[in-house]
Amino acid sequence: MSGARADRVERELRERELDALIVTQLVNVRWLTGFTGTNAVAVVAADGRRTFLTDFRYVERAEAEVAGFDRRRGGRDLLADAAEGLGRRVGFEDHHLPVRTWERLREAVADGVELVGAGRMLEDLRAVKEEEELVPIRAAAALADDVLREVVVEPGLVGRTERDVARAIERAMRERDAEPSFPPIVAAGANGAQPHAEPQDVEIPAGTLVVVDWGAQVGGYCSDCTRTFATGPIGDGAREVYELVERAQAAALEAVAPGADCREVDAAARGIIDAAGHGEHFGHGLGHGVGLEVHEEPRLTSVAEGALAPGHVVTVEPGVYLPGEVGVRIEDLVVVTEDGREALSGLPKSLTEL
Ligand code: ZN
Ligand code: ZN
Repeated sequence: MSGARADRVERELRERELDALIVTQLVNVRWLTGFTGTNAVAVVAADGRRTFLTDFRYVERAEAEVAGFDRRRGGRDLLADAAEGLGRRVGFEDHHLPVRTWERLREAVADGVELVGAGRMLEDLRAVKEEEELVPIRAAAALADDVLREVVVEPGLVGRTERDVARAIERAMRERDAEPSFPPIVAAGANGAQPHAEPQDVEIPAGTLVVVDWGAQVGGYCSDCTRTFATGPIGDGAREVYELVERAQAAALEAVAPGADCREVDAAARGIIDAAGHGEHFGHGLGHGVGLEVHEEPRLTSVAEGALAPGHVVTVEPGVYLPGEVGVRIEDLVVVTEDGREALSGLPKSLTEL
């Protein structure tokens, strides 16, 4: 792991006039240090000190994975060990720290030390990907596409159960030495009208829409994609909804660019869906960041703050859900570049009959 990420944290500390940041959220520890174990605390101090603490189980792993930090074996309470001698204003990850842990931290720091909530400092920093992080994200997206071609597009869907298709997606990923980044969603007909549908033990019929939302994880980094397929000819109503979502998705993709207001990217799709009278059927945000976590910063919603920047990796996934009938969602994973966007999802988006 390069020390460049700790440098970015250090710059942010100086800007916020913090003497140090105690990093307790494991995924942030991983981003910062490269450590993949399940118990560690990292500290970045504004004076250049970088400390990494783990317990006896992970000492060897830390030696192999963590560079650029003073590696220490902590005792029973890593947080208490990490909290010593950090200066007067010490940041901590108040978005994640359980209240009880915070109380322990407060007891551990010296009198007169001010503990300052750092919010999503690291989440915002790691939302902007480095080139070396884009490599596994691109690989995960390409692998997910391959898996879908093999397991869904080629064999088709009619007569298989949602659950069997979901399992087949997971299996095909593992055969390629990857993991699913989340349990795949395979949802036909009315089940597809639930944005977070769970695959059921029911056979997929002909003549309906099937939402498939799946992603892979490669080298710790996730992908996320959705396609909605038709199992043979569908009615005009369902087709209209599909074409509406397709149009909204294309407009929002077009709006993804450096400097674009996150709210306005959401509005690019929402405006089209609203105008067609389906505003109330698009009940979730347009998209989210993807990286070490499948849902991370930045958020593309109607209440999001901030703007897109080069290196952000986001999904663009409008949907229209007609309760009791069908659902349509189309989701691409995109990288914000210096002058626009790079789409990582390669499967066609015009309605495909399987
Ligand atoms: Zn998804
Ligand atoms: Zn998503």
